[in-house]
Amino acid sequence: MVSKAGFALVLAVLVCGQYAVQGVYIVSKAEWGGRAPNYRVALDNYLNYAIIHHTAGNYCETRAACAQQLRNVQSYHMDELGWPDIGYNFLIGGDGAVYEGRGWNSLGAHAAEWNPYSIGISFLGNFNWDTLEPNMIAAAQGLLNDAVSRGQLASGYILYGHRQVSATECPGTHIWNEIRSWSHWRA
Ligand SMILES: [Zn+2]
Repeated sequence: MVSKAGFALVLAVLVCGQYAVQGVYIVSKAEWGGRAPNYRVALDNYLNYAIIHHTAGNYCETRAACAQQLRNVQSYHMDELGWPDIGYNFLIGGDGAVYEGRGWNSLGAHAAEWNPYSIGISFLGNFNWDTLEPNMIAAAQGLLNDAVSRGQLASGYILYGHRQVSATECPGTHIWNEIRSWSHWRA
């Protein structure tokens, strides 16, 4: 039999503790060796759209390899394209980890005029031939659930693949085939 104090403790952890709100672990920019943004534009909560991308670059399966890919993408976006930071809000590696890009409540650079209304999530790789693994799908869905829990996304948000809002093949065939079965995806 569980004591009253024990029960109260369990209840307190469930209601107030980090267990209930922490969600998926996000590998911080500091952890992947990312650079600080040149500037950041804040976005409000309750965005109505999540837009899914691929980087169309190399696939990675380890923390070290994914960190290198992230640094490459960030350098391309900042040094070649002149953006203030890596374009996406979050990225997901073949290791199944979620990586911080611009992060929460930050205007991204990933889908032109849709940027102010959406968070951009990009899978590292080219998913016209790379394969989306179950741990990557779980990572994306965990991140999206957390986005709703924290109010970043409206509970009735709509999920699109990048090709639905811009003339691009992004997010690649395999991701495109996958996301169309997700509950928030709309034609
Ligand atoms: Zn894209």
